Amino acid sequence: MSLDHAKIAAVVKEAYDKFSQAAGGENASYIPYLASVPSSLVGVTVVTKDGTVFECGDSNYEFALESISKVFSLALALEDVGAEEVHNKIGADPTGLPFNSVMALELHGGKPLSPLVNAGAMATVSLIKASNPEDRWSRILGMQSQLAGRQIALSEEINRSEQTTNFHNRAIAWLLYSAGTMYSDPMAACDVYTRQCSTLISSKDLAVMGATLAAGGINPLNKQRILKAENVPHILAAMTMEGLYDSSGDWAYTVGLPGKSGVGGGILAVAPGQLAIAGFSPPLDPIGNSVRGQLMVAFIAKELGLNLYAVN
Ligand code: GLN
Repeated sequence: MSLDHAKIAAVVKEAYDKFSQAAGGENASYIPYLASVPSSLVGVTVVTKDGTVFECGDSNYEFALESISKVFSLALALEDVGAEEVHNKIGADPTGLPFNSVMALELHGGKPLSPLVNAGAMATVSLIKASNPEDRWSRILGMQSQLAGRQIALSEEINRSEQTTNFHNRAIAWLLYSAGTMYSDPMAACDVYTRQCSTLISSKDLAVMGATLAAGGINPLNKQRILKAENVPHILAAMTMEGLYDSSGDWAYTVGLPGKSGVGGGILAVAPGQLAIAGFSPPLDPIGNSVRGQLMVAFIAKELGLNLYAVN
């Protein structure tokens, strides 16, 4: 089934008009930079697998990628070491606990369970092939850039804000190391993980990155194959299980698409074989998901009939 472009354009605009003023939520404040981003910003973008872009609002405003970066480093780790090793060393289950939970690690003998929580993301970074941390970082930035189809850059300001406040993540990295589930120097992995969260992307970039997944690993703008097709279902499964942290089940139940959020206010949903929807607005619900982003993305998915579990 191919969706009608006029319908997509109308639905994207309707989502923006309906929810861009929605109340509720607060900017993340545990990373000082994020507290300073204007809460009124709202962007939404759909990119189809053939590269058509539909956007509304602040869709070119560049915000911190944050946790959504975990998806793209997972992609790189899968390319590097393969699905089996990622599954064995990291896991593919929801933790049922907050994204930076220490208890989740304690309960499972140090196995992080998901590449999309902080512990699993740092362990995933440590699996990526590299001769040193700078090389690992440039490969991750290269992957983000290839998926977006343009050069993605680190924000020095965001990175400084995160690196000087990431004590909890450093503790998690050492816990992984002590459990034997960290595969490089733990502080170097934490440092690189923190950088990957501190890159700047727009909702348009995010939708292109997601559309690359929707197209089975081919960037829809430049038609380059970025990922092996066989790795994409593993990425989407991880997103389904843990992409919106401990509301991933609610998201699957109500929206029915693999998704991923970040505390910068970004949120991405992928309709395999069709398109990706990206939303951005800084105020978050208590779990860490963008309030307006979830409303807009869920609305678009519903109006376009994209629920994967629906029998049409
Ligand atoms: N950099 C953030 C952290 O590690 C990302 C978390 C998130 O977006 N959920 O805490």
